[in-house]
Amino acid sequence: MSARFLVVFDVDSTLIEDEAIELLAERSGERERVAEITDRAMRGEIDFSTSLVERVATLKGLPESVLAETAALLRPTKGAAELINLIHERGGKAAAVSGGFIQLLEPLKAKLSLDFAAANTLEVAGGKLTGKLTGEIVDRTSKANHLKKWAAELELPVAATIAVGDGANDLAMMEVAGLSIAFCAKPKVREAADVVLVVRDLAQIGSLLA
Ligand SMILES: [Mg+2]
Repeated sequence: MSARFLVVFDVDSTLIEDEAIELLAERSGERERVAEITDRAMRGEIDFSTSLVERVATLKGLPESVLAETAALLRPTKGAAELINLIHERGGKAAAVSGGFIQLLEPLKAKLSLDFAAANTLEVAGGKLTGKLTGEIVDRTSKANHLKKWAAELELPVAATIAVGDGANDLAMMEVAGLSIAFCAKPKVREAADVVLVVRDLAQIGSLLA
C-alpha cells in the first residue's frame, strides 16, 4: 500500500459525536459516573489507562449483544464521510485510533471506508462482558505508535501525516504528526495544536489537504 499522506483521527468526540463508553455504561446504569471520569481523563486531569480500567469494570455482566447494538447508535460527525472521500480522492489514507473499543470501531471502519483502525478489546466470556480488557491498552503513547507504524507501512515520513483529536490522550500523536488539528478540543489540546477548529464540521479539514 502506498499513499501521498495519512490522516489519523481520534474516534470519540472527533470522528463520532459520542463517547462510546458512555453509551455502553448507560446499559449498566453507570452513565453519569463514567461520563464524569471520561471528562476528567480527556482534560488530562487523571491518568487515562487507570481511568479506563475503572470505567470498563462498570460494564461487567452486560450481554455481548450490547456491542452491536451500541455500534449501530454511533453517529459520525458532520463532514466525516465527505472528508474521508476527499482524502482518498487526493491519494491519501485515513485511519482511526481509539482509546475506546475495537468491537465498536470495526463497524465504523467499514461504514466510513477507513484504511486502518486500532482500539482496545473488551473481553467477552460466556456471552457477557467481563469488565476487563484483553491485549495492550491503547493509550496516549500507543496512539502515537500506531500513527508511526501506519506511516511506515505506507512508506511515508511522519511529516506527511495529520493527526486530528480532541482529548489529552491525543497529545502524543499530535506532537509526532506533521500537522496537528484540535477539533472542538479540550483546552490543553487546543494549546498544543497547529490548527484549532471550533465548529463541529470535519469537512473544514478538506481545505488543508494539498
Ligand atoms: Mg476523543
